[in-house]
Amino acid sequence: MKDTHKHQGLRNQLVATIVEKGITDENVLKAIAAVPRHLFMDSGFENFAYQDKAFPIAADQTISQPYTVAFQTELLQVKPTDKILEIGTGSGYQTAVLLEIGARVYTIERQKELFKKTKIFLPKLSYKPKKIIFGDGYKGLPEEAPFDGIIVTAGAPYVPKPLLSQLKIGGRLVIPVGDKVQIMTLFVRTGEKDFEKLELGDFKFVPMLKEKN
Ligand code: SAH
Repeated sequence: MKDTHKHQGLRNQLVATIVEKGITDENVLKAIAAVPRHLFMDSGFENFAYQDKAFPIAADQTISQPYTVAFQTELLQVKPTDKILEIGTGSGYQTAVLLEIGARVYTIERQKELFKKTKIFLPKLSYKPKKIIFGDGYKGLPEEAPFDGIIVTAGAPYVPKPLLSQLKIGGRLVIPVGDKVQIMTLFVRTGEKDFEKLELGDFKFVPMLKEKN
């Protein structure tokens, strides 16, 4: 598990690429510059880690494209100490980006294999989420609600109601919604029953797995 000057150089180039694509939030850019993405990928893909692309991880899932991670994180407007819920832990890369910003992160993964792997892996890099949970993201995490932000990193066929209800007033939900292609959607909770909704372009995610009973 090495992180070298060469890797740092490649990360700086990656940051330049996502700045060109329109990301401006300094906290997000610093986090992308800091997280050693190559360590989150299987060794066969390590050399590609700083290309702005998604890559396969275990269990037929993918590590999201860095631009997408940056775009979603920027939409969340994460501030240090914010309480954030992530749906879809996967490789833990997005989790690490949130932790670099100083958020308190709760993250849920539905696949046992990935859950086990990432739960052991993140602390090895000194990334310590408040909780990594093996469970169903459609339900959110009522026992820890409300959250300043909720980020969904798989394509959701619809917007799960529990996620909206687990936001603080002023809190933000960032969720890609759709089947084959997803529309990045931002909800801001403006009151007990009121939400503002913004749609921010097309993205492609692996599908959010069905609800568990
Ligand atoms: N944030 C991850 C992206 C992983 S891809 C990263 O940076 O690597 C999406 C992840 O969502 C997969 O790991 C998948 O298993 C998980 N997932 C799919 N459906 C889910 C559900 N209903 N609840 C929780 N996680 C889910």
